[in-house]
Amino acid sequence: MNLVTSGNRDRRVFVGDLTRKEFREKMEAGTIKAAIIPTAATEQHNEHLEMIHDTLHATYMAEQTALRLFPKVVVTSPVAVGVSEHWMQHIGTLTVRPEIFCEYVFDVCNSMKRAGINNLLILNGHGGNVKPLMRRIYEFRDRLGADVNIRFQSYWDVYDQDLVQKTMDNGRLPGHADEYETSTMMVLAPERVHADDIDNEPSKVASVEKGKALIEPVIAGVSALVEKMIAGEAIDQPPVTFRPEGPLHMIKGEAV
Ligand SMILES: [Zn+2]
Repeated sequence: MNLVTSGNRDRRVFVGDLTRKEFREKMEAGTIKAAIIPTAATEQHNEHLEMIHDTLHATYMAEQTALRLFPKVVVTSPVAVGVSEHWMQHIGTLTVRPEIFCEYVFDVCNSMKRAGINNLLILNGHGGNVKPLMRRIYEFRDRLGADVNIRFQSYWDVYDQDLVQKTMDNGRLPGHADEYETSTMMVLAPERVHADDIDNEPSKVASVEKGKALIEPVIAGVSALVEKMIAGEAIDQPPVTFRPEGPLHMIKGEAV
């Protein structure tokens, strides 16, 4: 999302880029079938990545999915401050309490339901949001009603683990501001990677090639997920961000 120049004017997918008339007419015509709600963070990303990293990524993946499925999908304004209490020793990090975050996300989802959209994907881009929202998503379903199909997934949920292990040196997904997040930022916004300030080993093996190889599968995977939601098809994945191994990090086959 770019608040200054609004990107591709012919294919606007952000709710905020539509007038109320345009939005209403699309709803009346039955055009809009799903909404994506990006959730992320504004938090420290080591010395070398700008703190908007997770919000930029979740929003980008949501936007690209909506463009691929245009005009059936809209994207809400991102929830750009998440649960980041664990990084507050690095000043500049913004955080909200888990209960406030969850209720805020619920209200954004409920706004889309009240607009008449019944397929809602909360597309997450920050690890700290996972547990708080996982605990609440079934309650959200109950509160929104049976006619609403709501899911909560992080964008990295859609990866084929073999591809990740093959592409990356350390296989840590998403990790925190190291090989993976640095590589994708090198592609999406290279000016936001302050290479001279890299001070950790995993980030040193980040590359544009890795970033390119890892971005497209997310867009393809999230697009397939949203298409299945719209079609009412069964999805072979729990409707929450879920890692049976528990932690978010996998290092070459071994959970850490
Ligand atoms: Zn991050």
